[in-house]
Amino acid sequence: MSAGAPVVLVVEDNPRNRKLVRDVLAHAGYTTLEAESGEDGLELARAHAPAAVLMDIGLPGIDGIETLRRLRDDPATAAIPVVAVTAFAMKEDRARFGAAGFDGLLEKPIDVRALPRAVAAVLSASGTREEEAL
Ligand code: MN
Repeated sequence: MSAGAPVVLVVEDNPRNRKLVRDVLAHAGYTTLEAESGEDGLELARAHAPAAVLMDIGLPGIDGIETLRRLRDDPATAAIPVVAVTAFAMKEDRARFGAAGFDGLLEKPIDVRALPRAVAAVLSASGTREEEAL
């Protein structure tokens, strides 16, 4: 872990998507933590207090929306910005994810330029200086 690099937790059950996100975020100067399920993601979020979370919606066990709810219910993780990463990106889906409390939405298939922008946007909104990622 390089000093000062913001840590982004990636909750994603598909290994190819995890690798893509890891590679793109590493190139953009972030450090990643990875979880294959919502339950593991909750554990990592509590243990490491990441600067942001990228949350797949379709997960084994609890889905991304339930995982978000549990993050928000825990004072230790309630304020961490969470970006939904999903193929469900129609207008009504966006409204549903916004209502669920996600801070952003990234469409699948993942656009490698949109990914670091989405992370930088929630970090700057939450007060983490974007320069720290450079
Ligand atoms: Mn999935």
